Amino acid sequence: MEQSVKVLFLDRDGTINQDIGSYVSSREEFILIDRADEAIAAARKAGYRIVIITNQAGIARGIVTPRQVEDINDYLNELLALKQAAFDLCYYCPAHPGYPHPEYDQYLDCRKPSPRMVEQAVADLLKEGLVVDRAASFFIGDKVIDVECGLRAGVRPILVRTGHNEEALCQERQVVPEHVADDLYEAIMGYILSPASR
Ligand SMILES: [Mg+2]
Repeated sequence: MEQSVKVLFLDRDGTINQDIGSYVSSREEFILIDRADEAIAAARKAGYRIVIITNQAGIARGIVTPRQVEDINDYLNELLALKQAAFDLCYYCPAHPGYPHPEYDQYLDCRKPSPRMVEQAVADLLKEGLVVDRAASFFIGDKVIDVECGLRAGVRPILVRTGHNEEALCQERQVVPEHVADDLYEAIMGYILSPASR
């Protein structure tokens, strides 16, 4: 039997954890943005699946390894577990057009703003009998590419003012999010889980 699900697609760096100006390569460098964990836990309780969609071109650049990225993702789940939460799925794109790499170039078309990773998540959830209700799903991130990815995937984009805070750039490029929030907590608690978003 198929079941309809709503999903929060979340960018990682600058949205869930503080942007440190370079690639996060260790647990020590992964610092949650205030109350991001609480907000994710509340969204999950409200029935949203949590899917992380992150560009990790530091891999193609030789700055971080896939193993380090995965360890940091595990660490995020350990932090979320303290709030009785977890993410459901995580997709990362290791490639970068400016840093050709024999192993990773095959993933270049996954790189945000491409909606490929979102589409992969939707396909993987479908294998579990879960049909993503895109009109009730959101993409939250701190960059224009996140908003564009959400728009191209047909989900509702929200920009957060943490991380790179590309609010001005979104306006300049006419890549318009449905909503702009100060941070992930405000996006989830003040918008997605409030009657205003319905
Ligand atoms: Mg980001």
